[in-house]
Amino acid sequence: MSTLVMKFGGTSVGSDKTHKQACAIILEQKKDWDRLVVVVSAMSGVTNLLIKGAQTASLGDDQTYQGIVEQLRTQHFQVVDELLNDSKELASMHASIDQYLDNFAVFCNSIHVLGECTLRALDTISSFGERINARILAAFLRQEGLLSEAVDSTDLIITDDKFHNAVPLMDLTCKNVTSVLDPLLEEGQVPVVTGFMAATESGVTTTLGRGGSDFSASILGVCLEADEVWIWTDVDGVMTSDPRIVPEAITLPLLSYNEMSELAYFGAKVVHPRTIQPVVEHEIPLRVKNATHAAHPGTLIVKNPEMAKNTVKAVTLIEGLSMINVEGRGMMGVPGIAARTFAAVASQGASILMITQASSEQSISFLLPMETVESVLLALQDEMARELERKDIEKIWSKDNVVIVTAVGAGIRKTPGVGARIFGALAKGSINVIAVAQGSSECSISMVIDAKDSEQAVRQIHKAILHDSGDL
Ligand code: ASP
Ligand code: MG
Repeated sequence: MSTLVMKFGGTSVGSDKTHKQACAIILEQKKDWDRLVVVVSAMSGVTNLLIKGAQTASLGDDQTYQGIVEQLRTQHFQVVDELLNDSKELASMHASIDQYLDNFAVFCNSIHVLGECTLRALDTISSFGERINARILAAFLRQEGLLSEAVDSTDLIITDDKFHNAVPLMDLTCKNVTSVLDPLLEEGQVPVVTGFMAATESGVTTTLGRGGSDFSASILGVCLEADEVWIWTDVDGVMTSDPRIVPEAITLPLLSYNEMSELAYFGAKVVHPRTIQPVVEHEIPLRVKNATHAAHPGTLIVKNPEMAKNTVKAVTLIEGLSMINVEGRGMMGVPGIAARTFAAVASQGASILMITQASSEQSISFLLPMETVESVLLALQDEMARELERKDIEKIWSKDNVVIVTAVGAGIRKTPGVGARIFGALAKGSINVIAVAQGSSECSISMVIDAKDSEQAVRQIHKAILHDSGDL
């Protein structure tokens, strides 16, 4: 029995036109697969507005969220008015949208009164976009002749209580998937499941992190033992680089799970970084496809693709970073400095993107989002007060406005000289490299570069490695 899970992102189910497009794709695929499960995000922009409503309410503003309620009502009503012909379906959809938005307003009002917005409240609030959109798409699919029902993933995906970035508990989740989805699939239904959101064991709504509906799809794919998981988006697949920076960037037909993980982690926004992890273990192929250009094959991501001849497949960029340096001759050979350094960073809830330590052990450097730097520096100074006083650590400082440029490709491991070509390309552009890291997976090389050189660095590497070498 063949099973496909397809996820539609916010731009692929963000208007009546794109809902129609998604419906056409679903009808088409329904012919080829015995079991088809659809996962949807909120319409594009909706999650941002919900979060903005909650945040402004927490700051004492009780007007903005009310404006957002009206804006969201208009946006969703416009779409359903355009899509649904049956007056009863339409009326019930209006009622359902009203109810979710009323709930949203009640939550924002409580936040306004309390003057505080917890991550737990924020997760419930930011799930409304998915809840509404799944209902809209399911109603439209019914109208177009399919058996379909919206399913809240709070009934399926069980997570820990790390609100805003929850971790799925796969055994419990798979049990729920079997008991909730299997009967629907046996009836020939196409369930439309809300992406992004989940619930704790006791039923409190959590979310899987921004952009997390890709992750939802791969979690469900694993539980359903799907043959494939498809992510429908608004570009032709994973590209060699950001086409806004590198106009000659092209779509990659084939990638390995490792390459995709590194690409997603290092800034390729097309797939959420956590999407890969569940499918790797079960070797479920993942496809990224363009909903507005469905005939394009997109990018296929599998375990061991036939080695393409290009060693470096793509170049990515993460902007808005600072590099923190902990420096001092007294650190040499002293155990525990790194552990204490990173514990101090973690205490501020900051997430480290890259670490380097030269083997002389006289400095540790790591990269963080710029907005977290101030509090991290204070925490480090506090933690290392004694070492600073004794001059074992001489300086703890940050270099702001830096970026990470990463070249990704599984072939880096087997091919000598890739580093030389990359650094040669940067030298040709007179670009200074501040720090370098190569993960032990040897699937990527990352360079820290001053923000002013970022785009040129990406272009230089793309040109030298992907283009001039004739690899593409
Ligand atoms: N709607 C959620 C977000 O905007 C999840 C997603 O789009 O994947 O983050
Ligand atoms: Mg996305």
